[in-house]
Amino acid sequence: MQINVSQWLGCPLSKEEKEGFYSEVLRTLYWPTMFVGILILLFEAVMILTTLVRPQWIAELPYRRVYFALYVFLFLVTFVFMAALLALRDRLQNHPRIFVHICQAYAFFICLWGSFLSAFSGGDTAVFTYVVMGVAVMIVLQPWQAALLLGVNQCLFYLLLYLFSQGGSLASGKVINSLIATLLAVLIASILYRNKAVNYQNTLTITQQNEKIRVINNQLRSLVLADELTGAYNRRFLEEILPEKLEDARRAGEEVAVFMMDIDRFKQYNDIYGHVQGDACLVSVADIIHRTALSEESYFVRYGGEEFVLFLQGEPLPRCRELAEKIRKNIARCRLDHTGCPTGYVTVSIGVCFSGVSDTRDIHELVHCADEAMYFAKKAGRNQVCFYEQDAGEESWEEEEISWEETNP
Ligand code: GH3
Ligand code: MG
Ligand code: MG
Repeated sequence: MQINVSQWLGCPLSKEEKEGFYSEVLRTLYWPTMFVGILILLFEAVMILTTLVRPQWIAELPYRRVYFALYVFLFLVTFVFMAALLALRDRLQNHPRIFVHICQAYAFFICLWGSFLSAFSGGDTAVFTYVVMGVAVMIVLQPWQAALLLGVNQCLFYLLLYLFSQGGSLASGKVINSLIATLLAVLIASILYRNKAVNYQNTLTITQQNEKIRVINNQLRSLVLADELTGAYNRRFLEEILPEKLEDARRAGEEVAVFMMDIDRFKQYNDIYGHVQGDACLVSVADIIHRTALSEESYFVRYGGEEFVLFLQGEPLPRCRELAEKIRKNIARCRLDHTGCPTGYVTVSIGVCFSGVSDTRDIHELVHCADEAMYFAKKAGRNQVCFYEQDAGEESWEEEEISWEETNP
């Protein structure tokens, strides 16, 4: 197994990844850091107060003033550290690296504080050890940063130990114990950093792959639901998605309308102009319908051959009438040649089924009704819009209930 030493000593993250990594660090460590800060504040406050209520504790041994001063000092610096984090909270979102650097600076201070206290108290390495271990676990340090920060602290500890030791000699136990604590702390900080960084990279890879899968899925989905020739939705959309849309509309208390649109005498169009031109005509007609209905909340489906369905949501009856008529007129206005038609150009017949909020018909029933209305429009002479009336009986609708208008564009 080949170990990349420079990566180990440095950082497995690229420059771009680092910014995201620091954001993640800020997101996950901001409050835990504040929590630890509060614990330190509380602990130091207790130490300060217990000293203040027992003044004789200092009076008995004057060097205890130094301990007291150290408690106050740690309290104040921790207070400033937390106040800075709170004050900069919004700015840190944009510059998460600052959060990491503030924490590292505080960590260096607290290490020195621990070293001073340990050395001053005669080289008791307990405080020194838990401070460096705490820093290794809590603070995000690259391996080289951990080595530098804790290494400098170790040297200063030796110096302080030497200065405070009686007779200027160093006890080997304290020297070795503190060194082992520092080496372990550097190792722990490095391992934790590496794990965090690799975890972040893995999360990033998974997120990127998920995004790719989502995009591909969306593309596949739109391919599966689209009609190849016209780009409108296909029959599958009508079968699978429109029932859901209808449900949604009903739940939202909205009216819906289904338009069935059929090109007039299209068989003849193919016979006269050929199938390829027929396809182009389908594309043009679909395009006109699509553009006319674009501003509405609608779904446009190629139902089959030269038949299109438009599902309209949340539009009142007069608006549906207006739109159906507009589609018919817009197609006629384009004057797409069709010598097989009495008009001389391509026209459509449109059947509309309007469905109120209390209606319970499903999408297939609505399409069927729109189809019946469209059939009547054909029978009545083509190039017109007919409406299906919901309560119409078998006999009555043809003459009475379905109204139709023959309007020339
Ligand atoms: P009507 O006015 O009653 O609707 O008459 P029509 O000729 O349009 O009706 P009919 O249903 O008899 O003919 C539909 C024609 O549409 C038959 C078929 O050749 C043509 N067609 C169906 N799908 C396509 C297609 O994808 N491309 C082309 N070019 N023609 C198609
Ligand atoms: Mg037709
Ligand atoms: Mg047809």
